[in-house]
Amino acid sequence: MPGIDLSGKVALVTGASRGIGSVVATRLAQAGAKVGVNFHASSELATAVVDKINKAGGVAFLVGGDVSQEDKAEAVIKQLVEHFGNIDILVNNAGINIDQLLIRMKTEDFDSVMNINLRAAFLCTRFAMTHMIRQRSGRVINMSSVVGLSGNPGQANYAAAKAGLVGLTKAVAREVASRNVTVNALAPGYIVTSMVEEIPEDKQDQILARIPMGRFGTPEDVAEAVVFLSSDGASYITGQVLTIDGGMIA
Ligand code: NAP
Repeated sequence: MPGIDLSGKVALVTGASRGIGSVVATRLAQAGAKVGVNFHASSELATAVVDKINKAGGVAFLVGGDVSQEDKAEAVIKQLVEHFGNIDILVNNAGINIDQLLIRMKTEDFDSVMNINLRAAFLCTRFAMTHMIRQRSGRVINMSSVVGLSGNPGQANYAAAKAGLVGLTKAVAREVASRNVTVNALAPGYIVTSMVEEIPEDKQDQILARIPMGRFGTPEDVAEAVVFLSSDGASYITGQVLTIDGGMIA
């Protein structure tokens, strides 16, 4: 986004090895932020994201760890702060889906989806917030989904986790507003990443028919919103959910 300067800011993007997270990390670095690139399993992809940002003149740092586990989430924030000195922007982006109709959904698949989409955001926010409150500024951006607002058959676990993120966003936004920390959520519709590419082609066509703009979103569409919400210009926006879906649930 031309004109937005995040120089001097430190950002952490969870789940930044691929998909939306990798583009968000790249875009934040292009705007001048120093960026922590978190991943869980895809170390080669995450290393490539870091290398690409650094080669392009940005500053990125690899910080691996399963952020749904308390000790790992704490270590990720600690390593980032030790490396860059502080944390200004936290993008809770790590997420998975394990889709199944409710009556066939395994309890462990419910738990995994809740843990990675919701618990991880709670943990990272709690560990980062100590620093943000101390420095009297900060930005938290939670990656929810339109599915958390409208529901979707076969995604009871994912919808519950993404709706949970909306509640988390609003509660924490009220808690920390007086400390100049904003907390917002993004609710993307269908964004072209592996999550959407795995949808069978006939179902993709049915979805496209429901999108007034007639196209799926791109990770860049989401990244631009992250950059804006991270900027000084968004300092009076908190507790909000911004839908990025080409008008699908308008
Ligand atoms: P993706 O391409 O599948 O990437 C998921 C990312 O999350 C990967 O970098 C993965 O890293 C990371 N991750 C998974 N479990 C993790 C864990 N325990 N700890 C740390 N990182 C972990 O997904 P995406 O489509 O970019 O989605 C990104 C976010 O946007 C998710 O929260 C998703 O729910 C949300 N969203 C996506 C869409 C869409 O249409 N694509 C729509 C609405 C919302 P590893 O590979 O290293 O495990």
